[in-house]
This record gives sequence, structure tokens and C-alpha cells, in this order.
Amino acid sequence: MHHHLSTGDLEFESRHVWHPYSSTNSSLPVFPVVGANGVKLTLNDGREIIDGMSSWWCMAHGYNHPHMNQAMKAQIDTFSHVMFGGLTHKPAIDLARKLVDMTPEPIQTVFFADSGSVSVEVAIKMAMQYWVVQGYTRKTRMLTFRGGYYGDTTGAMSVCDPVGGMHSLFTGILPEHHFVPRPPCKFDEPFAESHISEFKNSLETMHEQVAAVIIEPIVQGAGGMYFYSPDFLRRVRELCDEYNVLLIHDEIATGFGRTGKLFACEHANIVPDIMTVGKALTGGYMTMAATLCTEKVSDTISAHGPIMHGPTFMANPLACAAANASLEIFATGAWKSQVANIEQKLLSGLSPCAELDSVAEVRILGAIGVVEMKEPVVMKEVQPMFVEEGIWVRPFGKLIYIMPPYIISDEELDFLCQRFCRVVSRI
Ligand SMILES: *Cc1c(COP(=O)(O)O)cnc(C)c1O
Repeated sequence: MHHHLSTGDLEFESRHVWHPYSSTNSSLPVFPVVGANGVKLTLNDGREIIDGMSSWWCMAHGYNHPHMNQAMKAQIDTFSHVMFGGLTHKPAIDLARKLVDMTPEPIQTVFFADSGSVSVEVAIKMAMQYWVVQGYTRKTRMLTFRGGYYGDTTGAMSVCDPVGGMHSLFTGILPEHHFVPRPPCKFDEPFAESHISEFKNSLETMHEQVAAVIIEPIVQGAGGMYFYSPDFLRRVRELCDEYNVLLIHDEIATGFGRTGKLFACEHANIVPDIMTVGKALTGGYMTMAATLCTEKVSDTISAHGPIMHGPTFMANPLACAAANASLEIFATGAWKSQVANIEQKLLSGLSPCAELDSVAEVRILGAIGVVEMKEPVVMKEVQPMFVEEGIWVRPFGKLIYIMPPYIISDEELDFLCQRFCRVVSRI
């Protein structure tokens, strides 16, 4: 059953509803969705389009997945929410156990958060608290890389790329952290020690003020869709240890197989001290994230007192039920061959774009395909072109990219790639 939107609905929404990163008087189109199944969205006018974005990285198992639907319905009929202060429940315990089992061995402790941004806030707090309770009161800065994206709340924004995150607009409310250039060494390029010298110099001069380094492992997501060398990431880990600084990995976009490994840190065979997960955690069904850490971090903080965070909807049972069902699907291991297959198909399917004069670079990693244009695209013109071709792709700036649900069939993927290239060739 589809609930169709009337002209009145759409007029009301254009006047009263804010969309992500948009103005209320925007002339940018928004497309009403009335249904979603598998990899397809059904629009108000009855058209079906293939979702090339996994609704911003999260719908790894596709829409209306029977196992996911069943798990959430069962939890609704049990109970939908209880506070987590002083109470606990099976969905949260099961989920924590799964997360501890799935992540590298030193990661042992789970803090549930309500969104990716909040899990980053918690990660930053954890890192600062870890040092402050041990008497290192000057270790309050983060060291990070340009081109990063960690979310939209103020703490998370303060470590986002200063230009992309529009720090100038919020000077005065954002804490000031230290930035070095993005990892210069691309995923397939040989790493040289000179690539990391600027980062190393910064650590050398300011490690006494640095609580943690925060980085998106291997793939910088919304800040630039950029893939860098695992050797670079390995050196970041070594230098953090050398200079007594914690390492935070934001795996919100990269986690759960997207880059071809279950977690992107596995490309470099290293483990962070603190790790955030979100997005595909619940298969896109509910907003939920988690901040995970080693026992060393949680024990050190806890030896001195409580962690200073506790959201109202912490460990919401419905979100936990969705995440448990999602992680059960990941645990079948089917994602491995699905992502490998998507990678192969994207390599061949998007290669025609590399020939175009308008295209600067095509890059593929796991189930992520990126076309970087030479000039920024005009969203207002380009977005409807994708919809006309039967696919959902949302570019930003010079970047046009796809990261489809893992369950996409070969036929659907061929269609997605062909139509994608056709639109890119017309820009
Ligand atoms: C999306 C994203 C976030 C923010 O998550 P929200 O759920 O949107 O708050 C943080 N870090 C990375 C790497 C992300 O991709």
C-alpha cells in the first residue's frame, strides 16, 4: 500500500520543511518516495528507480528485507523503549556481544549512541577524559586531516575539513583543533616516509596537547571520497603509540564491509583505541551508532569515575533489534562475495567515464565507485537527469559516486553503471 502525496503536501513541504544542507527557498527539486523494496525506490508518479546511494551508506541489505522487518516487528510487540540508566535488556546485550565479537580483539567496550555524529562526540569526550583523569590536563586537542567528515554536531564539526565544514561560519563556537593535509598517498600508490612527515612534525611539536588523532580509515567519505594507502594508516598508528596519543577511527561509513574488509582498519592490520560505527549498523532501519573502545580506555576512565554521556534513547531496543538483525545478515559472510562482485562490476562499468574530457579521475574501492569531475556539477540540472535515467545518485561538488546496496543483482548493477555513465557523459 502506497501513501501518495498530494500537490498540497508538496506545496506545504516546500514552504515548511528543511532538507539536509538546503535553504527553505531552494529551487532544488525533492523527489517524493512512496515505497521502497530491494534496491528500488518507488516515486509518487509510480516510477521505480535504483538506489545507487544505499540511502547514504546504510541500506546494505536493501529495503524491506524480510529478516529485518520480522525482527523489528517482534521487538515492537515485546517493548519499544526503556531508559538505559539503571536498566538493561537482551537486545542491547546481544548487540554489544556481536560488536565485540566482530571487531578486532582489543576492542572490548561498547557505548551506544543515537547517531553517527553523537558517537563521534562520545569518542572525543572519551579521549579527553582518558587523559584528564590521569592528570594530563593539557591533552585536550584533536589532531586530524583535512578532507575529513565526522558529522554535523559541533564537536564532530570541529574536526571536519575546515573549508567543507564551513568553520569560518562558526568561529567562536567550534573548539580549535589541529589539521594536517589529507594523506597524500593514494590507495594503490607506494608509501614513502615523506608522505607522513607533516603529520609526524605536528605530533612532535604538540603531542603534549593532543588527546587523540581522529581519522576515517582508508576512505575519507563525505569530505572528498578519497582512498589512501594502508601503509599510511599503519604509520599513523605507530606514531600515535610513539607520542602517547590515542587513535580514533571513524568507521561509520567504512564499517561492515563497504571497502571489501569488514572494517577498513583491517586493510592496515591495525586496531584503533576508539572506534565509531553507525550507518549500516542497523541496515538503515533506525538511527543508531556506537562508540567502541579498548579495555585500556574504558578501564582507565572508569577507575576515576563515570563516562560523562548518556542520551535519552541510548540503546533503544527497536534500534538494537534492527542492528542485531543487520549484524546477523553480515555474519552469514555473504557480503564478502557481494562486495567483491560489485567492485569488479564497478571497475569495468565505470571505466568508460575515465575517457571523458570532463572527468578528472575514476576510483573504485570495494562497493564504492567515485567519478571526480574537473568542475563542480550543477545539482539542480544533474539530479533530475539521474532520475530520468531510472537511478538515484546524489552528487556533491565535483564528486559523483555510487555505493549500492550489497544485495544488488548483476542486472541491476549493469543498469546502474550504464545509466550512470550516460548521465556523466552528458555533463
Ligand atoms: C555519516 C557520517 C558521520 C555522521 O553520522 P550521522 O549519523 O549522520 O550523524 C560521521 N562520520 C562519518 C565517516 C560519516 O560518514
